[in-house]
Amino acid sequence: MLSIDTLLECRWIVPIRPRGAVLERHALAIDQGRIVAIEPIATANARFHARERVLLADHVLIPGLVNAHTHAAMALLRGVGDDLALMTWLRTRIWPLEQALVSADFVHAGTRLAALEMLRAGVTCCNDMYFFPESAARALRSTGMRAVVGIVAIEFPTGYASDADDYLRKGLAARDALRDDPLVRFTLAPHAPYTVADATLARIGVLAEELDCPVHIHLHETRDEIEQSIAQHGLRPLARLERLGLVNERLLAVHAVHLAADEIALLGLRGCSIAHCPASNMKLGSGIAPIAQLLDSGAGVAIGTDGAASNNRLDVLGELRLAALLAKGATHDATVAPAARMLEAATLGGARALGLEREIGSIEIGKAADLTAIELSEPAVLPCYDVISQIVFAASREHVTDVWVEGNAVVQKRQFTAGAETGSAQSILSAALPWQNRVRELLNKPPA
Ligand SMILES: [Zn+2]
Repeated sequence: MLSIDTLLECRWIVPIRPRGAVLERHALAIDQGRIVAIEPIATANARFHARERVLLADHVLIPGLVNAHTHAAMALLRGVGDDLALMTWLRTRIWPLEQALVSADFVHAGTRLAALEMLRAGVTCCNDMYFFPESAARALRSTGMRAVVGIVAIEFPTGYASDADDYLRKGLAARDALRDDPLVRFTLAPHAPYTVADATLARIGVLAEELDCPVHIHLHETRDEIEQSIAQHGLRPLARLERLGLVNERLLAVHAVHLAADEIALLGLRGCSIAHCPASNMKLGSGIAPIAQLLDSGAGVAIGTDGAASNNRLDVLGELRLAALLAKGATHDATVAPAARMLEAATLGGARALGLEREIGSIEIGKAADLTAIELSEPAVLPCYDVISQIVFAASREHVTDVWVEGNAVVQKRQFTAGAETGSAQSILSAALPWQNRVRELLNKPPA
């Protein structure tokens, strides 16, 4: 008998690769954080002596969901500026509140709140873009979550940094400070073409190649953004990035709502990835990204929630259902964005976009045991004929029961249980409360 840490006995396993595969009554063996075997339950029980066995009798096990775009700390700003257009929302609510509030402590408290929400919803890794990335990374890791954080860059000063050089310097220092944690990765994260100058974008292109990391940027989110770019630079934003050498396999373009046919083809040809954030795009009235066409083009498609101030849920499973429905509705074609393809976007698609496809995104021997169990035993998810379609179209985050990150159980039977040193769910909520009161005060203050 081989001795291992954990054996998960599952009703179903959806490994993601090969696409559409469903394994019935299989067990997954975990040792030292890695997947070491996937085989029929009877065979696994005969072969392994597990220190811990978990019975998932009515559950489907999938790879942990990847949130390919978020601003986790903005969980503290959930609902502060609803029903406003993007630029009005940024200029009258978000940017003034951030100027008044953003600090390492704000980011830590907000990011832990977001991590708690995401882990309980089966999200094991998020790609964050916010100020104080070191604080965000430490907050995510303190809850047991896998972290990808941005070396953020923007031209204007904030409580975090004074100018683009200062942002990059601080972000690179954060990367150095966290280099020994294998569950933390960095991206270069210029906020958007309309907030970052040519010189900074060009420097980021060079840095991304040197550091071999993704470039995470909001792109073609609204029609206004494109018109403003044409007026200012004589080019659409994607063409401007192309001129500056940024349109390559490292590019992770967030939103990509407004794209011409030749732009879709270019993104596919260069192997770029898109972080599709359908709820945020709907809520801010930005439009519907052409996901069916992007999938056809060969571009990578991943799923993001955006921040809780523009969504207002950090719910990748919900986002996935919305993405599939919108793609079908927008193209008048029910066959596009099929369930298996969309579930792949929310797992392996995110992993690929972040350069983590050898580590996470599918259930394969040798990969990290980042896993999510979804229980399919209550009326809303019964009967079950096609388990993948059930996950995408019927299940919701409330059906997530158990979550592991690199083999560590962070959610068990719907409760956050990451461990003594990480603090309880209650301590995370208590730390968020003073910030809620502070935001309320600022919102109630009459304008100067
Ligand atoms: Zn965003």
